[in-house]
Amino acid sequence: MSGTVLAPQATIGVLGGGQLGRMLALAAARLGFKCHIFAPSPDSPAFDVVHRVSCADYNDTEALDRFAADVDVVTYEFENVPAETATFLAARVPVLPDPQILATTQDRLAEKLFVRQLDIPTALFAAVAQPAELTAAIERIGLPAVLKTRRYGYDGKGQATIKNDTDLQDAWREVGGQPCILEAFVPFEREVSVVAARGQDGAVECFDVTENEHREHILKTSRVPAALSQFAVHEARRIAEAIAQKFAYVGVLAVEMFVLPGGGEILVNEIAPRVHNSGHWTLDGASVSQFEQHIRAVAGWPLAKPIRRGRVEMINLLGSEVEDLQRWLTVPGAAVHVYGKAAIRPGRKMGHVTRVFADE
Ligand code: AMP
Repeated sequence: MSGTVLAPQATIGVLGGGQLGRMLALAAARLGFKCHIFAPSPDSPAFDVVHRVSCADYNDTEALDRFAADVDVVTYEFENVPAETATFLAARVPVLPDPQILATTQDRLAEKLFVRQLDIPTALFAAVAQPAELTAAIERIGLPAVLKTRRYGYDGKGQATIKNDTDLQDAWREVGGQPCILEAFVPFEREVSVVAARGQDGAVECFDVTENEHREHILKTSRVPAALSQFAVHEARRIAEAIAQKFAYVGVLAVEMFVLPGGGEILVNEIAPRVHNSGHWTLDGASVSQFEQHIRAVAGWPLAKPIRRGRVEMINLLGSEVEDLQRWLTVPGAAVHVYGKAAIRPGRKMGHVTRVFADE
C-alpha cells in the first residue's frame, strides 16, 4: 500500500528477529520510531534492542492479530515468512514491500522467470520437479550445473553441483528430494551486488556496487567500490533499478549478480527482498545506511542520497571468528558490530567489522 506517511513515535512492525531486524530497529530508533519485532525464537537477537516483541509462530493468528493492532506498518527482515502470514497481516495493516513480491522471490523458478521477463540475463535454467526430469534438464543446460531447491535455500543450503561423474541420485538426495531448478554453472570473474531502495514516491537510490567474496557459499568479505568498468557499474545499477520499479517495490532490496570473465556481461543470480549482508558496509561507510533507507521507505519518508565515505571493506565474523573480537577492538579505524547471539555454530553470522579507507 502506498501513501502511508508515519510520524516519529509511530510503531514499525518487523517480521523476523535476526541481526537484520536488530539493525533495522536501531536505525528506526534513530529516526524516532518504535519497533515491534515478531519472531518465533525466544533467542532472537532483535528482541534485545526493542521494547515490544511478539514471540510466536508465524501461523499464530491470535498473536498476529495483536501484533497488527499494535503497529502502523509491517515489514520483514526475513523473506521466508510464510506468504499466508503476510497476506493475513495485509488485510489489517499496510505491509511493505507488498506480500506478492515474497511469492516471487521465495521461489527460484518464479524469480528467474520474472528477471527474464525484464530482458535481464540469468544463467540458463530448467525446472526439475522430480528426479526423472533431471537427465533431460542436463541435456538442455549442460554440465557442470548447479541443482538448487526452488524454495528455502540460503547460504548455499539446498544446492548441489553436478559434474560429469556425479551420481544423479546422490545429488537429488543432497537437495532433499524437493522441486528444484537446474542452473548452468557460471564461471564468473567476480560476484557483485547492488543494494537499492525505492520510496513510496517511486524514487530509487542505489548504493555503490559491492564486490562479494564467499567462503563455503557464505558471504565473508564485501568491498566497495567493486573493481568494475564504468559500463558494468552502470549496467548493474540499471538492472537493480529495473527490478525495483517492476515490483513497484517499497523498501530496500538486494540483487546478487555474477560478472562474467572480461567484465562486460552481468547475470542476475538472486533477489533478496530485504536489507542484505552485502549492504552492512553502509552503516559506517556511507552517509545513510541501508537500514535507515529501508525505514525511510516504509515510513513514506523521502530517501536519502547515499554518499560513500571512502573505500570500504566489510568482514563477516562467522562462527568462532567472533572470538577475535578483542583483536578487532584495537585495530585503528575498525568499526565492530556484534549481534548478541548466544550460540556459536560453524558459519553462523555472529557479527561484522567495517573498515573505511581513503579513496585511492
Ligand atoms: P545462492 O544461494 O544462489 O545465492 O548461491 C550461493 C553461492 O553459490 C553464490 O553466491 C555463488 O558463489 C555460488 N553459486 C550459486 N549459483 C551458481 C552458479 N549457477 N554458478 C556458479 N556458482 C554459483
